[in-house]
Parts: sequence; C-alpha cells; structure tokens
Amino acid sequence: MNGLVVVGASYAGVQAALSAREAGYAEPIRLIVDETSLPYQRPPLSKGFLLGEASEQSLVLRDETFFRDKGIELLLGTSAVRVDRQERRVALADGARLDFDRLLLATGSRARRLSVPGAEREGIHYLRSLRDAQTLKAELDAAASIIIIGGGFIGLEVASTASKLGKNVTVIEAASRLLERTVSPVVSQFLLALHHQNGVDIRLSETVARLDKDGDRWTVTTGSGAALHGDIVLAGIGGLPNIELATEAGLACDNGILVDAHGATSDPLVFAAGDCTSHHNSFAGQQTRLESVQHAQDQGKAAGSAVAGKTSPYTSVPRFWSDQYAAKLQMVGLSHGRDHHVIRGEPDQSGFSVFMYRQNRLIAVDSVNRPGEQLIARKLIGAGVSPSPAQAADLSFDLKALPLPRAAEGARP
Ligand SMILES: Cc1cc2nc3c(=O)[nH]c(=O)nc-3n(C[C@H](O)[C@H](O)[C@H](O)COP(=O)(O)OP(=O)(O)OC[C@H]3O[C@@H](n4cnc5c(N)ncnc54)[C@H](O)[C@@H]3O)c2cc1C
Repeated sequence: MNGLVVVGASYAGVQAALSAREAGYAEPIRLIVDETSLPYQRPPLSKGFLLGEASEQSLVLRDETFFRDKGIELLLGTSAVRVDRQERRVALADGARLDFDRLLLATGSRARRLSVPGAEREGIHYLRSLRDAQTLKAELDAAASIIIIGGGFIGLEVASTASKLGKNVTVIEAASRLLERTVSPVVSQFLLALHHQNGVDIRLSETVARLDKDGDRWTVTTGSGAALHGDIVLAGIGGLPNIELATEAGLACDNGILVDAHGATSDPLVFAAGDCTSHHNSFAGQQTRLESVQHAQDQGKAAGSAVAGKTSPYTSVPRFWSDQYAAKLQMVGLSHGRDHHVIRGEPDQSGFSVFMYRQNRLIAVDSVNRPGEQLIARKLIGAGVSPSPAQAADLSFDLKALPLPRAAEGARP
C-alpha cells in the first residue's frame, strides 16, 4: 500500500493528514512541504512576529513528536513538481518520486505580484511565508518609513504593526474604501479613522504608476503624480491560488481546484483543501474561494475524513479575523449581495457590530471588539435564524433569546 501523499503542510495539509488518521486511515501518510521550517502559524507574521512579541518557536503548529506519534511522515524542504494521475505518482524537485493511493493537494496561495514599471526590482517585499516575515522584520527594525501598496488585511495589519514600532507609514489603496471586498462600509470608515489616529497616511482611490530606487531609498510614483519616498516597499495586493500542479495534472480548476463538500476533486482519488480550492458555498450561494485559517482547517478535516471513507462535509459558516492596534475585527458569514445593514452599538473603539442582510436574511456580521456578539452571530447564521433589523440594532434586545433549532444550539464556537 502506498497510502496518502499530502502536498503542503500548513493548516489544510496538517489538518487533513490528522483527520485521515483520526477517521481510521491505517495506510502510510506522507506530508510534504517545500518550506524547511516545521509547519507554522501565518496570522502572527503580520502582527506579533513582526512586532517582536511572538518568537519563531511560538509559531510552530505541531512539533516533530506530534507527527511521529500519529504515524505521519513529515518531509520538509520537499517540492512536488508534477502529478501523474495515471501512474499515481508525484514527482519531486530532487528527481525522486512518491507513489500514492490517494493524493491531497493543500498547496495554499501565494502573494500576487505587482506589475507596474520597476516592480521587477530587487527588494520589494511580499508577506506570505515565515522567510518573508524574517526578511521584512530585519529591514523594518532598521527603517524609518514604509510604503504599503494595498489596503487589504495584510497591508493594514503591517501598517498597524509598523506604526506601533514608530515608523512613518503610508498606505496606497486603489479602491475608494479600505477592505472594500470584505467588510461593510461602516467598518471601512472605522478603520480609516483608526489608522489616521495612529498617524498612518492612507491614500484611497490611488494607484501606483512606477517604482524607482536610488541607493536604499524608494520612490513610489502614484497614478495621480505624487512622489512618495520610503525605506521599504511592501505590496499586499491579494493572493493567487497555487493550482499549477492540479491544472497540469488535468484536474478541473477555476480560480482554485474545484472540490465538493468532501474536498473531492474531479478525480475521485485526488482531494484538495484550503486556500488553493474553490467550492460551492451554501452561505454565499455561489462558487467561492476562501483564504482563512478556519476554512483551511475545516475543509482539511472534511477532505482528510473523506480519504478515510468517512463523511464529514464542509458546511461551516465562513469566518475571519484581523487585529489592528487595539481593535479586534471579526467577521462571520459572507456579505456578497447584501442589501441592508444595521449597526449594533456605536461605531467606535468600545465595540460595535454590523448586521448585514440579503432579502431580510442575516448573511454576515462584522464586529469590532465584540467577540460575544460574533459567537451568537455565528450560531444564528449557521442555523439560518435572522433577528429582525430592529432587534439586531437594539442593544437592549437579547440576541441569545432567539430560539435556535436544536442542532445549532451546540454549534462549535
Ligand atoms: C501574513 C498573513 C496573515 C494572515 N492573517 C490571517 C488572519 O488573521 N486570520 C485568518 O483566518 N487567516 C489569515 N491569513 C490567511 C491564512 O494564513 C491562510 O488562509 C492559510 O494559511 C491557508 O492555509 P493552507 O493550508 O490552505 O495554505 P498555506 O498556508 O498557503 O500553505 C500551503 C503550503 O504548501 C506549500 N506548497 C505549495 N506548493 C507546493 C509544492 N508544489 N510542493 C510542496 N509544498 C508546496 C507552501 O509553501 C505552503 O507551505 C493570513 C495569511 C498571511 C500570509
């Protein structure tokens, strides 16, 4: 028996290997990853690690003993370059081959690269891996200023961290508001004010025309003709799924490897999970690719269980979080197609939530410093229970009092 080969050992790959084992998969499991460090947590890379509060050691997801105890062989620094589905074999960069009975692709995503003149210059930072974070941290510690291209999660988290470190920070964002694709306008407005209060210069509706470097100093020329100078340039302009192995192997892909609720691809022997996949999401009512820890782990669990022949479909309500300054931002549900929203609380740092509706159905809730409300929102959305907008906006109305179907009462937090 050749067992299971998992490509990618981050949240999705590690969880899938573990879930396969826990669901009774008794054959060999080999978990390979092209990085040389033990599987690690990525969210602190833009937050605690960059700030100097979280050590490299504290990022480790699972240590070697854990994998050994579970009978999972972890192969670090091993890059898969080709999948032969006919022969059921993975070719590795060093020329070796791994035969498999089942394959699971958890190859994640990578940072989208800038494509303006000057973007090919050495030294522009992207933040995706521990190595990226180590390089950025070393330079940031010595720098006085940073120009961040992109006002998405990565850009804003680095802006917050760099500002805490006393750096001069500028953020260039092409859209007219921050995090346009992911949060409600109320939260965008709140974050803009928060960054301003912390001295960050945010340029909305602004693009980058070109990048130049003179000695150690960067000049970023914007679309409107401004010349911004900084010691560091970081681009956080989104992620692209790592689907090359899958497309070359002939698996169905469309902005992600297409999978069903069990992580199965168009080949019943090949599964996939995490950032690299696209699935039909019942909450969004459409094909969706998600980039979040929760999604990678929950889909990894579904795919790993399916490898072992057990069904544990991926049906979780999508959620995401971000930490900026003292604000804990949490989002549950998918706000695509929202047509109405109400605010619970005052949109300030003491905490508030934005309840979003589509045709009177609660579809997403963004919260700032309101973890309790998020928990309730997660249960409500998961159970398909919608408070009326008036109830949601009324702080004296107890959302917990809304009756949930029995199964949802114990919904996992
Ligand atoms: C700086 C940063 C901050 C983040 N903050 C948050 C947050 O606050 N909250 C949140 O929910 N999410 C956050 N995320 C997103 C979250 O980390 C990702 O959604 C999650 O890591 C996805 O896990 P994954 O296992 O699907 O893929 P990845 O974590 O991308 O891992 C894929 C692994 O596969 C490896 N690989 C790829 N191709 C091959 C190959 N051919 N051979 C061998 N190995 C290969 C890659 O090198 C990588 O190690 C953040 C991400 C970053 C980068």
